[in-house]
Amino acid sequence: MRPVILNPLFAEVTSLKGVGPALAKPLDRLGLVRVVDVAFHLPTGWVDRVPREELDAADAGRIISIVLTPRSYRESNGRGPTRVNAFDAAGNAVSLTYFGGHPGWAKKLLPLGEPKLVSGRLDQYGQDLQIVHPELADPGEVLRAREPIYPLSEGITSRRLSGFVDQAIERAPALPEWIEPGLKAKRDWPDWREALVRIHADPADATARARLAYDEVFANQLAMTLVRADTRKRRGRALAGDGRLRDLLKLPYSLTGAQARTVREIEGDLAQEAPMLRLLQGDVGSGKTLVAAMAMLVAVEAGAQAAMLAPTEILARQHYETLRRTLAGLPLEVAVLTGRDKGRVREATLMGLADGSIDILVGTHAIFQEAVGYRDLALVVVDEQHRFGVAERLMLQAKGARPPHLLAMTATPIPRTLTLAQYGEMDVSRLDEMPPGRQPIETRVISEDRLDEMVNALGRHLSEGGQAYWVCPLVEESEKSDLAAAEARAEELGRRFPGKVGVVHGRMKPTEKDDVMAAFSAGALGVLVATTVIEVGVDVPNATLIVIEHADRFGLAQLHQLRGRVGRGGGLSRCLLVRGSSLSETSRARLALMRETNDGFRIAEEDLRLRGGGEMLGTRQSGEQGFRLAPPDLLPDLLQCAQDDARLLVDRDGGLEGERGQAARIALYLFERDAGVARLRSG
Ligand code: ADP
Ligand code: MG
Repeated sequence: MRPVILNPLFAEVTSLKGVGPALAKPLDRLGLVRVVDVAFHLPTGWVDRVPREELDAADAGRIISIVLTPRSYRESNGRGPTRVNAFDAAGNAVSLTYFGGHPGWAKKLLPLGEPKLVSGRLDQYGQDLQIVHPELADPGEVLRAREPIYPLSEGITSRRLSGFVDQAIERAPALPEWIEPGLKAKRDWPDWREALVRIHADPADATARARLAYDEVFANQLAMTLVRADTRKRRGRALAGDGRLRDLLKLPYSLTGAQARTVREIEGDLAQEAPMLRLLQGDVGSGKTLVAAMAMLVAVEAGAQAAMLAPTEILARQHYETLRRTLAGLPLEVAVLTGRDKGRVREATLMGLADGSIDILVGTHAIFQEAVGYRDLALVVVDEQHRFGVAERLMLQAKGARPPHLLAMTATPIPRTLTLAQYGEMDVSRLDEMPPGRQPIETRVISEDRLDEMVNALGRHLSEGGQAYWVCPLVEESEKSDLAAAEARAEELGRRFPGKVGVVHGRMKPTEKDDVMAAFSAGALGVLVATTVIEVGVDVPNATLIVIEHADRFGLAQLHQLRGRVGRGGGLSRCLLVRGSSLSETSRARLALMRETNDGFRIAEEDLRLRGGGEMLGTRQSGEQGFRLAPPDLLPDLLQCAQDDARLLVDRDGGLEGERGQAARIALYLFERDAGVARLRSG
């Protein structure tokens, strides 16, 4: 149960004065559903309200504040605006312009000869400077030196939002301290409530911002540390494989050093009673599937069942095919189950799982539905783990009578520091070595005005018997138009290469998508135009060219994954990154990095570094880690620190029971990382 002290913060946003049904909607669009969301809606910047000494044309386009004295009126002649000629202390002129108002009104607001503190956007209007509909105050009146700018949505003004934020802060209680005193003193951090007040009063307050960011990160790391400590205490089932199935495997190659090492690490974990919690990180093509297969064979050798969870239908079927091929001839049963399986087929699979005649099951989320009962599920493999949060991992663990071992796999290259945020409770294995014979993918960055050349290159590629991907990005805000872009591109390429072009996107029915994918896999199609649905796992070795439009819109990790669709066969593969005509320095550097290296881990580290400086206030990017207060540039430092502190609290300071622990429990609930606590209760 949530500590009562937090109740005021978790009240509905409609409990704030002035929030009626009309405003609830725009607030909802901003994700502001409860009071706490409003309190944590941090300003992303500020308007400088420190008054200027003098008018300066160089400030045109900026919001300024300045003391001005009105000297004369130029009244509206019928339709035009009323202008008030005003001067700064140095005698520079500006016109304060009012549209559509009664002329008397401007006169009343701005009596001649009376200095006013004027704020608004300075515009260049022909030869003159003007401010349209300025805000006015008396010169002595103190304006906030820095007025926060909040992310807004249609239907709500900054001023309204500021008012709600003020109310939300007012309701925020003072909370007991969860930060280790030495750390708090060293960083000179204020108390939680004070930090909240300070950040909204002065968005540039780096210390207050860091404290709030730390709190969120700390709650996250603490939850994981608790889950980990709890898992360690649980009794799963020790799986000792005797090798009889693995000995029958006929692989056309030998394991890479990294694969062999990882398999040993997994064997070691499985041999323990405490359930395994291991993350397998390996770049696209590093051979994670084989490692998973070996792990599942250990489970089957030990007389148990294994399940493998894939994020999409396509990938589930593909894994199923791969496993069947790899495990052909072994005395065991592999089955597949997805949401599409209905009726008798599904019934038969469920029976086989219940009576144990199916040893290995591959599928989508459907494999963990309530109706699906296993005889003896002892190992769960989750592919492309980044789509599953801690809560899902906990859910999986609840499935077996005894908690199953968990192997999570991801190809998303994550910097080491950030791995802690997402997988802080897990042990990590890295496949840092590619199978032999892989050629690096040749990457080029090309401007979008050279599209013709690219289509010609595609033509040559096809006539040489090659296949290709053509990716059009899907951007959330304009999902529709980008979908249209993909379809239009497919049509255009289809006219040029009749019968050879297919298209897949997220709006298609799974069956339609699968048909197109299957045709492409079989070589019946030469070009697959796609939105990012091909991102994960699809494997067509003959596809050795990938064109990525609007490459500058993708995150580097995503670009890297997309690029990994090619380079799967023996031959040389190419990746063409199509960029827009105007690029920021950072975008340029990012694309250059893609050209320079094929090493996903390096790309991830550099990407983090590149993001760091430019987007000081943008927390959007770190959203991948599920943080809303912690900006990416602070993460590496804060994460390590929070991880150490969370361990300290759990291992030395009595966990949640001691005084600081009680405070930390509040932090878990405040940041809604309480899944760990709930589980401790139930278990
Ligand atoms: P990912 O890590 O991206 O899931 P996969 O498991 O799909 O990678 O493997 C990519 C390709 O590499 C597959 O075609 C697989 O058969 C092949 N492969 C895996 N391990 C080895 C190895 N040790 N030597 C050679 N090829 C391998
Ligand atoms: Mg894979």
